[in-house]
Amino acid sequence: MNLNDSIQNITVAIIGAGFAGLRAAQRFEQLGINYMIFEGSDRVGGRVFPFSYQSGYLQYGAEYVNGEDNEIYETVKKNNLLSATEIDEEGYETVVYGQEVNNKMYKIWDKFESSTNEKLERDGARKEVKNQSVSERIDFYFSDFMKAQKLSQSEQTVMQNMNKLFKNQYQLEWSAPSTDLCLRNFDTWDSGVDSEATLNEIGFKSILDELASKVPKTKIGMSSKVVNVDYTGTKVKIMLSNGQYFLFDSVIITASLGYLKKHKTTLFTPALSVSKSAAIDRFGFGNNMKIFLEYNDPWWPNGMSTIQISGRVGNTETSNSLEDDLMVFQPFLWARKILVAWVAGNGPLEASKLTDSQLMTVLDNHLDTNLKNVYIVSKIQRIHRHSWISDEFALGSYSYISNKSCQSNTDDIKLMRDPILTNRRPVICFAGEHTDSEMFQTVVGAARSGLREADRIANYYSLL
Ligand SMILES: Cc1cc2nc3c(=O)[nH]c(=O)nc-3n(C[C@H](O)[C@H](O)[C@H](O)COP(=O)(O)OP(=O)(O)OC[C@H]3O[C@@H](n4cnc5c(N)ncnc54)[C@H](O)[C@@H]3O)c2cc1C
Repeated sequence: MNLNDSIQNITVAIIGAGFAGLRAAQRFEQLGINYMIFEGSDRVGGRVFPFSYQSGYLQYGAEYVNGEDNEIYETVKKNNLLSATEIDEEGYETVVYGQEVNNKMYKIWDKFESSTNEKLERDGARKEVKNQSVSERIDFYFSDFMKAQKLSQSEQTVMQNMNKLFKNQYQLEWSAPSTDLCLRNFDTWDSGVDSEATLNEIGFKSILDELASKVPKTKIGMSSKVVNVDYTGTKVKIMLSNGQYFLFDSVIITASLGYLKKHKTTLFTPALSVSKSAAIDRFGFGNNMKIFLEYNDPWWPNGMSTIQISGRVGNTETSNSLEDDLMVFQPFLWARKILVAWVAGNGPLEASKLTDSQLMTVLDNHLDTNLKNVYIVSKIQRIHRHSWISDEFALGSYSYISNKSCQSNTDDIKLMRDPILTNRRPVICFAGEHTDSEMFQTVVGAARSGLREADRIANYYSLL
């Protein structure tokens, strides 16, 4: 890009030092544009949050890399971050009402699951059904399928619970209630090559460090929460929670969709347009939580990939509905004493109300009562978790196309992304995973969005 001298004189504020903000900053470093990042929390990375554990890092947030034709995957290759071993997908254990699901049931179920996955993908592009929710469509196929089976009452119960677990898989992967996850997500979301890379024990720590190393620490104001962005004057005024304010030519805001939903009316002066504000309200922002359960020794067999639990047994009423969402547990390849509970639905909210020791009791009881016919489950020693739903700067996990957004027949991602212009000058630019049309939800989408908005600003000023 050939920039003229005027670009040296402009200054840009970037709100947020997650992947969108850091990637925008990296671009400005390259182009010699003055900028300052304001980060509300006391760390960089946002929803990428590695924490040190034994010889590596566990991830409270992003863990897998989607697609291959993107910069994040390039870093994965360059830094040798791919896991050397893959999880054995066949190593499943499914328990319904405390009983192991038998091979006959698995066989029947597997046929249904694989054909339904394919049908759902296709349905995402079918005009007559693409606005339906995943849950509605799965139940439609399930009821059809069950009519053709000759099963006893107890076998039907097993199948119904397998169906519940199936819907929960979508809920976990897309971080959206399956009743609000619109089929259109499958047609809109596109990572190019349909792959999801599992990383080694260093994984996202290395990706984050590499990106952060391109941005001088002096250009990031940590613990600098922006409470208002005022674009009434020629310069944009950024107001911090401590009362300090600063003036800039342009701003890139990368706050999460959860943050925008909650704070958009006080965050901008004047208020956002009705159409942008409505898109922010309509688009989905989900909840997801990983709880890392640390044991003295693994009690699950070698080669186990996933334990799925459905149906409540025993008296596990410590909290209202948390147990219903404690369905999926997975061991780690390199952290042998860790089992991770993947929690979606109401689970993250319910879990956030409990202390670690209360949560450990719920989990211990839940695993023991449900699995006692299959394994000897030992007691959890410690748990590690981050509550995204109560993290004041995230307020949830990641975005998805909701039913309301589908039904509105608007391009909500574009509406959320459109910059605010004054005489064609991009005054407020919107980045963050929720603004990437094809890879919303992801780190790849977040980084791409930061680069896109940095280039938007650079392009404008270079054309002056
Ligand atoms: C549990 C979980 C698992 C995930 N798994 C994956 C995965 O496997 N692969 C994948 O690709 N993605 C995954 N994601 C999603 C991925 O982490 C996000 O899409 C991505 O990190 C978002 O980056 P971002 O820059 O858009 O937003 P963020 O990372 O949220 O960055 C925004 C930054 O802005 C700051 N901020 C917000 N408001 C203010 C304010 N008012 N003032 C100052 N600073 C502010 C925040 O503190 C934050 O640092 C996962 C997310 C979660 C929660």
